[in-house]
Amino acid sequence: MLVGATLLIQDVQLLCFTIVFGVLALQRWSDRMRRWLWYSFLANTAGAVFDLLGTHLPTWISRGLNGEMIPLSYALLNVALVYFDRRSKKAVWISGIILFAGLPFFLAWRNAPDRMHSDVLADLLIALECIVTTVLLLGGRERSTRAPRLLMGGFLVVFVGVELVRVWVGFSMGVNPDIATPRLAIVSAVTYIVNISLLPLAVVWMMQSRVEWDLLRQSTVDPLTGALNRRGLEQALERELARCRRYGEDLTIAMLDLDHFKRMNDKYGHVAGDAILVNVAQFLGSQLRETDVVGRFGGEEFVLLFPHADIAKSSPILEQLCQALRDCADLLPSTYVRVTASFGVTSTSGRSTSEAGDLLREADVALYRAKANGRNQVCYFQSGILQERTPESKTDGNT
Ligand code: GH3
Ligand code: MG
Ligand code: MG
Repeated sequence: MLVGATLLIQDVQLLCFTIVFGVLALQRWSDRMRRWLWYSFLANTAGAVFDLLGTHLPTWISRGLNGEMIPLSYALLNVALVYFDRRSKKAVWISGIILFAGLPFFLAWRNAPDRMHSDVLADLLIALECIVTTVLLLGGRERSTRAPRLLMGGFLVVFVGVELVRVWVGFSMGVNPDIATPRLAIVSAVTYIVNISLLPLAVVWMMQSRVEWDLLRQSTVDPLTGALNRRGLEQALERELARCRRYGEDLTIAMLDLDHFKRMNDKYGHVAGDAILVNVAQFLGSQLRETDVVGRFGGEEFVLLFPHADIAKSSPILEQLCQALRDCADLLPSTYVRVTASFGVTSTSGRSTSEAGDLLREADVALYRAKANGRNQVCYFQSGILQERTPESKTDGNT
């Protein structure tokens, strides 16, 4: 009775999910993850239809192929997850082999007087396919989708456990697990319902988390250089300032502008100019500490944040950076290009209050002075006084 009611609930749920995922797939047919997810629900629904039609169908369908339909739905879900994670197709092959290995047995047992062996084999194949699903879910390293993966993967471990107990009861005792132990029948009915309800939610949650993460990334990361964009930079600056105020630490800000970059574009073309910007961003990132922040403020201007550092601490790093950039010879492949930059620097040290806007303005004033003084140098704005330091071998680069 309970098992019958469970099956009815499952069938209705399946029908609803098949419609919803069908619409989702049709909305973006090019998205293979959505398509294969729908195929997965279709396979499961086809199994339910075969069950309902029962004796009206030839036995090779109703009792042969039908045994494969639920394992097939998990195999198709595995294909969807492989596309979602852009992984190798190894898991797809394993899922396919599991399915094909079971098919001859279902066909051979299609005329058996009871369905016990077929049902237990279906449980075994479902468990094996779900192990692959669990590995795919828990093996994904994408941080934004971690919560739904853990939730679904964790539950699948329980589900696989219940399925394997059913297999063990069926094969070792030779009785239908639903008849052998009523408690097992209830536990497996409940896990079936939870599984069929949780799975679509977890998948939609994963898709949603990825979209949210991508949007957040797009709004804070510069698409050309991969460094923070202006919005991301301003957020990082506010965050670091709040931390400074809270813990009474210093923060140094450097604004740097590549010298005569327009000439570079004119000489090598804009594509090469873009490549230089990408390489400069990478170079800056590689020279700084993990806690420092690099962002593209605009055009060929970058901003660097040095948390826990006053001017005295950060100035040797900046002088070195100015020199290292001038000496860097890998900014364009197979072309010798020299790029120099002018730096304007300011810091929160020795002040009672410091606002992000004021600091950026001060760094800009210092940068302007560095330009006016001949470029390729670092100028400091400290306590309202502009201080200038020039590298020993000052050359106005871009030759
Ligand atoms: P200065 O030393 O005074 O800073 O001279 P400059 O030529 O660098 O400054 P200017 O402001 O006159 O020109 C900035 C140039 O940066 C103009 C523009 O072509 C270039 N630029 C800005 N953004 C990009 C970009 O995304 N890609 C490329 N290739 N060039 C860019
Ligand atoms: Mg410039
Ligand atoms: Mg500029």
